[in-house]
Amino acid sequence: MGSFNFDVITLFPKAFELLDNLGVITRALEKNLIRVNLHNLREFGEGSYKQVDDKPYGGGAGMVLKPEPIYRAHESIIKSSKSKTLLMTPQGRVLKQKDLLEWSNLDQIIIICGQYEGFDERVRHLADEEISLGDYVLSGGEIPAMSIINGLTRLLPGTLGDPESLLNESHNCPLLEYPQYTRPFVFKEMKVPDILVSGNHKEIKLWRMQKSVERTLERRDDLIKSKKNLTSLNTQRVKQESEEFFKSNFEDDYGFYPNW
Ligand code: SAH
Repeated sequence: MGSFNFDVITLFPKAFELLDNLGVITRALEKNLIRVNLHNLREFGEGSYKQVDDKPYGGGAGMVLKPEPIYRAHESIIKSSKSKTLLMTPQGRVLKQKDLLEWSNLDQIIIICGQYEGFDERVRHLADEEISLGDYVLSGGEIPAMSIINGLTRLLPGTLGDPESLLNESHNCPLLEYPQYTRPFVFKEMKVPDILVSGNHKEIKLWRMQKSVERTLERRDDLIKSKKNLTSLNTQRVKQESEEFFKSNFEDDYGFYPNW
């Protein structure tokens, strides 16, 4: 299988050195599962100063990225038939785990990073999708781009040691993950729940289902509110109902349900 290509158009390619120091991502780079191709926007700038930005028409604060350098950079990238161009902008759709899952079936993602006050409106025509990392404003699109590269890479086959660990995670289904413990059994008088060392796998599974539901209701009930039959979900029901219940409620959302 060929590498998954990330092509990033950025004024700050050095920022992406961080990716090479992130464990799982470093391994994916070493194993050629991914390639991160950085396209320095400055090299596509105008004139002898390699100008990439200019004052906004109509006045106002700050500088706006010009369209021509970004278009030239985008045109210079060889595109595969399974490629998508994403524009980083706080005005975009907020990134979700299911986007990363969907994009992991592509083999190339081109990411355009804005800077300063943003980019000329005409840059939007290059984008298949406009993506925001969240409802806050950063100084540039580099951190959002790295988040996408990081989150998507760990979904690629061969990246994580244990692919099972992907299934249980928060946001793979509308439930948050159950609490996790490792050794020591007692730490600062806080004890690991006895059930986890009981060796009773059926009971452990039920406990995890129950905790997942409790946790989601406590912290993020917005994740399950809209789901049929789930508004009245309570821990008693979790104990009574079988795994099938979860399967039938959640499966259509993400294609699989947690492997408790
Ligand atoms: N004036 C712009 C914000 C510019 S921030 C506006 O109000 O929409 C500068 C650049 O940082 C943006 O062009 C974008 O590429 C990036 N950026 C900032 N916040 C972001 C976010 N939440 N998600 C994705 N990209 C973001």
